[in-house]
Order: sequence, then structure tokens, then C-alpha cells
Amino acid sequence: MTQAATVNPFLAGMLGRCPNCGRGSLFAGFLAPTAQCASCAYALAAADSGDGPAVFVIMIVGFLIVFGALFTEVAYHPPVWVHLVVWLPLGAALCLGLLRPMKGLMIAAQIRNKAAQHRRDEGA
Ligand SMILES: [Zn+2]
Repeated sequence: MTQAATVNPFLAGMLGRCPNCGRGSLFAGFLAPTAQCASCAYALAAADSGDGPAVFVIMIVGFLIVFGALFTEVAYHPPVWVHLVVWLPLGAALCLGLLRPMKGLMIAAQIRNKAAQHRRDEGA
């Protein structure tokens, strides 16, 4: 189960595919990793990205939403309901949209860099 030389594990992870082979699905549900890759049988159930993806999504989306809301307020002085209608749904959509690719990217980075934390049965 060695990693194929042609697979970019980070791109495969962001696309929700197995970081080892790039073909099988990485996720069984929206965010739960599948037990093992259907294509190469690589054990993915032990992958644990913890809170990492959520932290990055919060920082990225938080920056975009706060910057956008402040810029809109200073430049156009819209009523408060405009901020609520624009920035709340946009923030929720961006968070939900980025969470899965970010989790795939972090799992791929853990596997690629052989981080001991990515396996619950090893280390600590
Ligand atoms: Zn695979």
C-alpha cells in the first residue's frame, strides 16, 4: 500500500478522494472518514484531523465575512437587515462548503507527513 507517485495527496484529499491512491472515496458521510479505501484498501478510519479543519475554516471565513461586512458598512452604509441577509447566509454556506475539503486536506497532510496523530492506535 505505498503511495502512487502520480497522486497529489493534498488535491485528492481536498476533492474527497483517498490520499493514498486518489481514486476511492475518503468520506463515508459528509465529514466521517470511510473505514478503508474501496480502491486500495488503505485504512482511513483511524484518520483523525480533530478540530484542525474547523479552526482553519473559522479563520478563513471569519476574515472574509468580517472584512466584507466592514467594507460594505463603511462604503455603502446599508441598513442592518442587509448585513443579516447577505453575510449570515454567505458565512454559513462558506463554512459548510469549505469544511469537507479542509478536512480532506488535513487528513491527506497527516497521512503524507506520517503524523502519528493521524492514527488513533499509535503514539500518545
Ligand atoms: Zn485508496
